[in-house]
Amino acid sequence: MLYEGVLQKMQTEIGKPIQYYLVFKNDFLNVNQVLNKEITINFIKHQCLNCGLDKAIYRQGFCKKCFFEIPSAGDWIMRPELSTAHLNKEDRDLAYEKKVQLQPHIVYLANSSSVKVGVTRKTQVPTRWIDQGAHEAIEVVEVPNRYLAGITEVALKDYVSDKTNWRKMLKNEVVDESLEDWKNKLKQYIPEEALPYFLENNKEIEIEFPVNKYPTKVKSLNLDKTPIYTGTLVGIKGQYLIFDDDTVFNIRSNEGYYVSINVS
Ligand SMILES: [Zn+2]
Repeated sequence: MLYEGVLQKMQTEIGKPIQYYLVFKNDFLNVNQVLNKEITINFIKHQCLNCGLDKAIYRQGFCKKCFFEIPSAGDWIMRPELSTAHLNKEDRDLAYEKKVQLQPHIVYLANSSSVKVGVTRKTQVPTRWIDQGAHEAIEVVEVPNRYLAGITEVALKDYVSDKTNWRKMLKNEVVDESLEDWKNKLKQYIPEEALPYFLENNKEIEIEFPVNKYPTKVKSLNLDKTPIYTGTLVGIKGQYLIFDDDTVFNIRSNEGYYVSINVS
């Protein structure tokens, strides 16, 4: 079976385990169904997710020009505390920023190898946690806009990481934590403006990934250096495909790469 198209992060569906889909223009692949099969990934060209041109991908699947121009790649995406739509202040496109920033946001704790804090739109729960490869997560506050979530995250970052250790996550070097305890412990550090939105008595959720074999060493596949790769798929975790020779392929960081995928 041959699939072809531009890579975008895998879509997911809650289940035990999580179901993963690679979605192309005219076709899609339920990746769980090709576990234990040999797959060949063939890099054909770049295709910027905004302009569609065959230009080098800079970040988030966009060419450099698009990354610095389009409203959906503003600095407030990666740094929510820089959000200004609640002040009626434009970054690149106020109408777009209002639509995205002025909606319920969640500050959460997720455990993918150790506990980290993060921000997501409420509509992206639990997708965001799945994408990070977290095996457990809990919501801390639900606030009405992105700015409040951002300043809460910044405050909590002094006490808990905001990064995922993706090597440990993939090797499944994980420690179970009581995220309820963490949440209650961190409550005292939440900024005053966000404190009324603290969530009481909610529970952590658990996420199960389709992995048959975890890698012992992690070798990252880079399509610029290795444009054709063949391996047997043994797992999917976060946005990574895991192969039996310890190669891992991060779909998310290869957004904008146009590939063919052959399943034999
Ligand atoms: Zn572009």
